[in-house]
Amino acid sequence: MEIFVDGVAMEAEAGQSILQALRASGRDAPVLCYHDNLTPVSVCRACVVEVEGSRALVPSCSRKVAPGMKIHTDSERVRRSRRMVFELLGSSVDTSTAPELQAYMAEYGADPDRYGEAAARLAEPLRDDNDLYVRDYSKCILCYKCVEACGPDAQFTFALTAAGRGFSARIDTGADTPLLDSRCVFCGNCVAVCPTGALMPSLEQRLRAAGRWAPERQHVAETICPYCGVGCKLELHVQDNRIIKVTSPSDSSVTAGHLCVKGRFGFSYVDGPGEPPPA
Ligand code: SF4
Ligand code: SF4
Repeated sequence: MEIFVDGVAMEAEAGQSILQALRASGRDAPVLCYHDNLTPVSVCRACVVEVEGSRALVPSCSRKVAPGMKIHTDSERVRRSRRMVFELLGSSVDTSTAPELQAYMAEYGADPDRYGEAAARLAEPLRDDNDLYVRDYSKCILCYKCVEACGPDAQFTFALTAAGRGFSARIDTGADTPLLDSRCVFCGNCVAVCPTGALMPSLEQRLRAAGRWAPERQHVAETICPYCGVGCKLELHVQDNRIIKVTSPSDSSVTAGHLCVKGRFGFSYVDGPGEPPPA
């Protein structure tokens, strides 16, 4: 079908979302709660666009294209709305480990400081209750990606849920149960999709806290997981010749980016336990 994006005619396929059509044509929209392998929940409102005939701005991640649709992706109304979203997030959570959000704030000229010192900020204690990953909900933007990855979009473990309302809204393990006492099987799929570093491998958190997390000394090597016959594709993140993190590409036909506890966290047998030596 033919649609019009910022006044330019382009082709789109029936069933595509506006975002998918934009990406197929080499364009994009900012996203925080969207992930290729998760069902769109349309909660962050970062990807909104203007559609002629629609009273409100629409989330491009979930609105399907329609023949002749006229879409505006960069109007003043769209930019103002996105700027407000990034400002409100920036004023209420710790964005220090959220490079995408920081980049969007810069691109849209968001100024979280204009809400002043009195702006309510999340101040949650670091939940460090196991050896594999930590939870810092002071950085949580409530995108629900972790809930989806733990639930029906990947893991089907349902260890996480969204609880509370308003300022009390939060991601919960059920009455704030420590992870070791929860249903969690430590696959780390929630960690992999978290866009802000609110969920972070424990080793990465320790290296960052010690000032020893050094992206400029890191590279990624691809391999196949050695544990079982499924053949999951692994990305080994290596710093100073030590594996420091394992991920899987979301476009892998075997994993779709998801792993089990062994593939994601069971790598200390390669280098031995402990951390990389100081550079
Ligand atoms: S590690 Fe896996 S099982 Fe545990 S909360 Fe995250 S997605 Fe759910
Ligand atoms: S912990 Fe991360 S993935 Fe989960 S809702 Fe918060 S920001 Fe999103």
